[in-house]
Amino acid sequence: MRGLVWFRNDLRLHDNEALYQATETCDELLCVYCIDTREFAHIPYGFTKMGPYRLQFLLETLEYLKTSLQSIGGDLLVYTENPEQALPQLLAAYNIEHLFFQHQVGTEEAAIETKIADYCRVHNIQTSINNGATLFHVDDIPFKLTSLPNIFTDFRKATEKNSTVRSLFPAPTAVVSITTAEPNTIPTSTELGFKIPEPDPRAAMRFKGGEGEASKRLQHYFWETEALKTYKETRNELLGANYSSKFSAWLSLGCISPRTIYWEIKKFEQDVVANSSTYWLIFELIWRDYFYFVAMKYGKLLFRKGGIKQKPLYCISNEAMFENWRIGNTGIAFIDANMRELLHTGFMSNRGRQNVASYLVKDLKLDWRMGAAWFEHCLVDYDLASNYGNWNYAAGIGNDPREDRYFNIPTQVAKYDPEGKYVRHWLG
Ligand SMILES: Cc1cc2nc3c(=O)[nH]c(=O)nc-3n(C[C@H](O)[C@H](O)[C@H](O)COP(=O)(O)OP(=O)(O)OC[C@H]3O[C@@H](n4cnc5c(N)ncnc54)[C@H](O)[C@@H]3O)c2cc1C
Repeated sequence: MRGLVWFRNDLRLHDNEALYQATETCDELLCVYCIDTREFAHIPYGFTKMGPYRLQFLLETLEYLKTSLQSIGGDLLVYTENPEQALPQLLAAYNIEHLFFQHQVGTEEAAIETKIADYCRVHNIQTSINNGATLFHVDDIPFKLTSLPNIFTDFRKATEKNSTVRSLFPAPTAVVSITTAEPNTIPTSTELGFKIPEPDPRAAMRFKGGEGEASKRLQHYFWETEALKTYKETRNELLGANYSSKFSAWLSLGCISPRTIYWEIKKFEQDVVANSSTYWLIFELIWRDYFYFVAMKYGKLLFRKGGIKQKPLYCISNEAMFENWRIGNTGIAFIDANMRELLHTGFMSNRGRQNVASYLVKDLKLDWRMGAAWFEHCLVDYDLASNYGNWNYAAGIGNDPREDRYFNIPTQVAKYDPEGKYVRHWLG
């Protein structure tokens, strides 16, 4: 049988359900990634959806995956074309009988999947769509999506009590490519119209895409430095590589699965120590799951001004204020330092993100969707559910049970940057 694996946010060999199923079921495979050109469209706020840091990380990830697949006899074909255009052509040209892919959350993503699934139905092509993006499989959480709790703690407690994390899918040892498939090369960022900025020496770390780099980071954070041991104490810091795991970028493209991280934490707990820090990293992965399921439940409401709560929201329109926030020129040093870190590196700590989001929404009173769009452009770890879920939360129209939460910047600075080290690092 001939199969096609459509790689999406599961750009890895290990614990990849689609690839595993395909290699078990089919004799010959085509492995495909589509670079969706809609990501390069300018949105009304004046920038593209995907920015240069995210693009670079994606291209590095694709290079790594291509080489990994080649090393076991396969290949990755990369098309700069929207999937609902590219895939039907490939399915027809290579007489594919079975299509495998991972479901991706988001309304536009769902519309694309529907078009492709419809094509397959009409043309008698089998489809296997898996839900492998989360720590807990959607079928294993103790709720129907429609009754997913609106408060994280209720979700966490119920899943911790009732759900288990599934075991990992082994990486395939061999892939047989369809011999007539025309090999191609991955486009460069220049070919896609982007100029990648030089790496900023002030960056917390250099995020390099690919499954190998994800695994190196895990090795470093867990086993070489044992930084995991103190994660709970350090996670709110602002400077350096090891105050937090920095797994987010690799998780966002699926260079590593949350299950792989989970099972490695369990191993660490057995071999080194089980403490509140090892637990807390799992706790944060459950937050990630929660926002994924919230996005599944609420669909397009997540992107509306009134958010999932559909609350009327007062905001002003002021382009200059947004521009100053965006480039780190508000005059509030702590906000500017964080926004410059984002602008120059594509990363910002969780503490920083909470502060700059609160500042945009509660102090400047601007539309939260502008902030979310800028994060979407910049963040090397941009993840639809985590980004829009957290922005809904920050704007008080999401899952925060406290509607009046406000980040008082001087108080935050006194607590998290009392000596001004972080601000000096970015503002000189
Ligand atoms: C306004 C706003 C926007 C955000 N946008 C994104 C985004 O686009 N992509 C993204 O991955 N995270 C986003 N986050 C969540 C969080 O800030 C990042 O996951 C975290 O800073 C990444 O660094 P880390 O991997 O070192 O995190 P760690 O502290 O080491 O946490 C480990 C992992 O847990 C998950 N996690 C931690 N905190 C959160 C959270 N609040 N929500 C969801 N998952 C979490 C991430 O997968 C993270 O990699 C956003 C937060 C805010 C406040």
